[in-house]
Amino acid sequence: MIVIKELNPKGYKLTIEQEKNLKILLDKLNKVRKAWGKPMIITSGLRSNEDQQKLIASGRSNAIKSNHLLGLAADISDPKKELQKWCLANEKLLEEIGLWMEDFKATETWVHFQAIPPKSGKRWFMP
Ligand SMILES: [Zn+2]
Repeated sequence: MIVIKELNPKGYKLTIEQEKNLKILLDKLNKVRKAWGKPMIITSGLRSNEDQQKLIASGRSNAIKSNHLLGLAADISDPKKELQKWCLANEKLLEEIGLWMEDFKATETWVHFQAIPPKSGKRWFMP
């Protein structure tokens, strides 16, 4: 199972909202982890504003208000697209759990999960 430290490896001091959000996200990710049955490596969980600015500057993100800042999103390493395939085959379960993903065209080697819907409300959305 995934533990909270994996979502906040730098040990950022949390606001009450971030703490609450990370717990919700962790619970949802562990439901996927259990159903999927394989290890999940988190490559990016909670980000500071500084982290996010660096990603934008390097062209790796275009989101000023990323859900990573709120503790509501996590990226899972998926170089072989195994998790992506699993997600596509388990849309119903992801709907029940309440997770949304960036379109896999935008996330070639990882899966971005977030615990709140995007503006479009679509299960998969373009970032
Ligand atoms: Zn992400």
